Amino acid sequence: MSTPNSEQAPGSSSSRVWIGLGGNVGDVRSAMQTALAQIAALPETRIEAASALYRTKPWGDRDQDDFLNACLRMATALAPIELLAELKRIETGLQRRTTRRWGPRTIDLDILVYEGIEGTWDGLTLPHPRTAERIFVIRPLFDLNPQLVIEGKTVETHLDALIARGEGSEIELQDAADAWSGQYLQR
Ligand code: ADP
Ligand code: MG
Repeated sequence: MSTPNSEQAPGSSSSRVWIGLGGNVGDVRSAMQTALAQIAALPETRIEAASALYRTKPWGDRDQDDFLNACLRMATALAPIELLAELKRIETGLQRRTTRRWGPRTIDLDILVYEGIEGTWDGLTLPHPRTAERIFVIRPLFDLNPQLVIEGKTVETHLDALIARGEGSEIELQDAADAWSGQYLQR
């Protein structure tokens, strides 16, 4: 049976994965471009598409600067735990500051969805918790795959619900996809 999430990524053993990027300390746009280049260079990994770049009001702890957020879709043969380790390595290299939960950070890299895998392991939950209730994740995912199913509903449905709750005013377009990511995507 075919479902919106079951389309096979190219390459026999690779899976589609959606990554969330965000940050609000220092030159975040440049940190996100460096992260993009480093993710593109991971073994057996290819970035397929990047969303536009969005500016978002801080979520959780609101006494901090606005965030920049975007999402990537990629195909990878790395297992979820291997991919998480690589993303943490990239975060550390970009000097992510882990001061307080939901607080300021140079860059946050999350595995939002790993095609076909759901559950919780040591230090990894898939899909990433609270994805469906965060406009700064759902809006960029909508750029990539509005029909992607998360927690039983499409990204489009989640976005409509968030906008109906008034959360559309929390996010604005900062940069078109090609403008921030174009030169860093593999061709
Ligand atoms: P959040 O991503 O919810 O804003 P943090 O980035 O501060 O919060 O959370 C960091 C920890 O969350 C990481 O050390 C990682 O082990 C854990 N984690 C659990 N699931 C995931 C996931 N799907 N992607 C990234 N990190 C995850
Ligand atoms: Mg995170």
